[in-house]
Amino acid sequence: MDLGISGKRALVCASSKGLGRGCADALAAAGVDLVMNARGTEALDATAESIRAAHGVSVTTIAADITTEAGRAKVLDAAGQLDILVTNAGGPPPGIWSDWEREDFIKALDANMLTPIALMKALLPGMMDRGWGRVVNITSQSVKAPIAALGLSNSARAGLTGYVAGTSRQVAGNGVVINNMLPGIHATDRAISLDTGVAESQGITLDEAKDRRAATIPAGRYGTPEEFGAMCAFLCSQHAGFIVGQNILLDGGATNSTL
Ligand code: NAP
Repeated sequence: MDLGISGKRALVCASSKGLGRGCADALAAAGVDLVMNARGTEALDATAESIRAAHGVSVTTIAADITTEAGRAKVLDAAGQLDILVTNAGGPPPGIWSDWEREDFIKALDANMLTPIALMKALLPGMMDRGWGRVVNITSQSVKAPIAALGLSNSARAGLTGYVAGTSRQVAGNGVVINNMLPGIHATDRAISLDTGVAESQGITLDEAKDRRAATIPAGRYGTPEEFGAMCAFLCSQHAGFIVGQNILLDGGATNSTL
């Protein structure tokens, strides 16, 4: 399917690895020029080079912590005019409800709620003036069904979801659509780190932790960054103009609900 976005320009935050990389790759396959970001330069440069070689699009890399004001300013200054924004950042650490103090919540809110909001606030006016834009926020399955150990994530991402629900309806008339993608468990470094925590706390191997988790997913496996990226590219395509303010769950059926 021709996604109709060849020649558009996208900022994909936190995209040297994992789900962000999956989104960057799929957008590049649709002919989108990229601005890619991560904190570390090594994986960022290597991923950018492999995307250039595979898809022949222009890729600009900006190493910065997207969750800081200075990092966002650096990325936005270097990015120039953008048609597509994919927001993403690392997720908060696991724990239990009694662990978290105000400072932990402020960090999680900064990273997973206020950063995407700041990026949208900076980029929506230009998209609206030009009459076309696409925003995809990578959030989490935890927005639909809480994950007890990820209370910081449950809280911050719910806040972002509320903001998107209202804002998406205010900008849709200008040709700008905003949606959220809710990953369930996907095979990335983040999953390895969460599974390592489970393995250590339960005295089992990493493979056992992974197998036990996969067995709880109706699809019987973890999702892949490629599958995730394909949905992201579709939500950024010309065909997605009537999909407004939605929360698209990609979890292999793990969330047991009818709607
Ligand atoms: P990942 O494999 O650990 O990759 C994270 C990527 O983000 C890396 O490229 C990393 O590069 C970059 N990054 C992290 N923090 C950053 C920051 N502050 N500024 C700029 N770049 C940053 O993670 P993932 O699995 O793709 O997860 C992406 C998001 O989806 C996370 O918020 C995660 O909580 C959420 N999620 C993931 C899953 C899953 O199963 N994978 C499920 C639900 C939700 P640097 O380290 O070099 O910065």
